[in-house]
Amino acid sequence: MRVKNIVAVGSLLLLSIAMTCAIFYVTKSYNKQSRLIENELKFNANYVSSWIQTAFYHSNNVLHELSDSLTEENFASLSFNEAYDEDYGELFEIHYQTLMNAIHVFAVDKDCVLLNTKTIGGVDLSSREYCQKLKKSDQEINSVITTPFKDILNRNVISQSVTVNDKYGNFAGIVGIITDFSFFSKALRSVNLTNISSISVLSSDFTVLASTVPKFLPIGKKLNFEYIPKKEIKGLKYNQEFMFESHEKYDGSYQGVYVKKVSDLPFIILVTKAKSHWVTPLYIAISTVFALLVLFAIFLVKNAYYFGKLSSEAEHYSKLALFDDLTGSCNRRCFEAKVLSFIQNYHAKNQTFSVALFDIDYFKQINDTYGHEIGDEVLRLFSRACENICESDDHFARLGGDEFVMLLSNKNRDEAEAILNELLRSIRNIEIRINGQLVQLTSSIGVSEMHDDVFDACKLLSRADEALYEAKRLGRNQVFISE
Ligand code: GH3
Ligand code: MG
Repeated sequence: MRVKNIVAVGSLLLLSIAMTCAIFYVTKSYNKQSRLIENELKFNANYVSSWIQTAFYHSNNVLHELSDSLTEENFASLSFNEAYDEDYGELFEIHYQTLMNAIHVFAVDKDCVLLNTKTIGGVDLSSREYCQKLKKSDQEINSVITTPFKDILNRNVISQSVTVNDKYGNFAGIVGIITDFSFFSKALRSVNLTNISSISVLSSDFTVLASTVPKFLPIGKKLNFEYIPKKEIKGLKYNQEFMFESHEKYDGSYQGVYVKKVSDLPFIILVTKAKSHWVTPLYIAISTVFALLVLFAIFLVKNAYYFGKLSSEAEHYSKLALFDDLTGSCNRRCFEAKVLSFIQNYHAKNQTFSVALFDIDYFKQINDTYGHEIGDEVLRLFSRACENICESDDHFARLGGDEFVMLLSNKNRDEAEAILNELLRSIRNIEIRINGQLVQLTSSIGVSEMHDDVFDACKLLSRADEALYEAKRLGRNQVFISE
C-alpha cells in the first residue's frame, strides 16, 4: 500500500513538473516566435517609412526653396505671359530633376487659378481643396499634403504644396508637386519580403496607395478597420503604431498585421504575415509537448500498475509465509510469533493462558481408506471446527500433518478443559459422508497451562505434547491436562 502511494504521489509530482516545464516551454517559444515576427514586420515598415520620409522631406525643402525664389521674383505681380514662361520653366525644371517622388511641379496664384506654365500640365484644376486650405491657414501652416485624388489625366495622385507670399508677407499663391502612386510601388519593390508577407502603403483615410498584394489590397480601395478599437485607429494620427490579428483574409489566409504611421506624413504602412505560417511552429511545439506528456502519462500508469502488481504479489507472498496453504489457518511461523507475545504478556501483565495441542486420531487410516484428497478435506473441516470455537483473543494454528495448536487466552486449565471437551463433541459431530457412508472424526488434545517457570514456546509445547501423548495412551478422543 505504501509503495502504491509513493508511486502515485511521485507520478503526480513528475507529471506536474513536466506540465509546468511544458507550459513554460510553449509560452517561451510562443513569445519568442511573436517577437521575431513583430521585429520582422517592424523592420519592413520602418524601411518603407524611411523611404517615403526621405522623399517627402526632400520635396518639402525643394518646395520651400521654390517658394522663396518666387517671392524674391515678386511672384504676385507677375503676369504669366510667354516672356516669363521660360524662366519659370527652367526654375521648375531644375528642382524637378532632384525630386524622386514628383511627376509634376506646379504653381497656382492667390485665387487658386492654375498658372499657365509648361511644367504644370496634368494638374487637376478641381483640386483646389489644398489651395483653399493653405490660403485660409495661419502663417504656421504653410505646407499641405492632400488625400489621394484623380488628376485630369485620371491618374491616382497626391499633391504636396507650399504657400508663396508676396513681399508684404501676404498669400500670393502656392507651389506644389504631384506624386502618383507608382512612387509608392517603387518604394515597396525595394523591400525584401518572404512570399507569406505583404506590405502596403495607405493614405491617412486608409485608401490603398500601393501594395505588394494588389489582388487582395487593390490600389484605390478604402480599407475597413471597423473591428479595431477606435482608440487605436485614432492613435495613428499621432505617429503611433499597433499590431493586431486580421479578421479578414489577406492573400488567402488570416494575417498578423502591423500598422505604423509614417512620422509627420499622412501615410500609413501596413505589413502583414500569414498567421498560419508563424503559428505552425507553435502548433508543432504544442503537439510535441502533448505527445511527450501522453507518453509520459502512459509510462506513469504502467509504472503504477507494475508497482501495484508488485505490492499485491508481496502481500500474497507474505500471506503465504504466515498462513497454511491447505487449511488457510495460521502456520507454525505465525504461531511462534503469537505464542511469544502470549508468554511476554503473561510475565508483564500476568495474563494467563493455556495451550492445547491437537492430533487427529487414526488420520493415516482416513488417508489410506479414502485417499489423500479426502484426507485434505478432513484437515480443512477440522481446522474450521476449531476456529469456530475460538474467541477473538484466542489463537489457532496448524503445526503440520494432522497436528494443530490453540492458545486459549485468559483461560486456566479447568476453563480450557471445559471448552475443549465441548470442541471434542463438535469434532465428533463433523459430518463427513463418503459414498453415502458417514466417517466419524475424533481428536486427542493435550493441554498445558502457562507457568511462571516457562519463558519460551518449546517448554510450553513439550508439556502440552506430553499431555497429548497421555491422551493418546489413555485411548484417544479425550482431553488430558498437564500437571
Ligand atoms: P494417531 O491416532 O496415533 O495420531 O494415528 P495417525 O494415523 O493419525 O498417525 P499420525 O498422526 O502419525 O499420522 C499423521 C498422518 O497424516 C501421516 C501422513 O500421511 C498424514 N498427513 C500429513 N500431512 C498430510 C496432508 O497434508 N494431507 C493429508 N491428506 N495427509 C497428511
Ligand atoms: Mg494423528
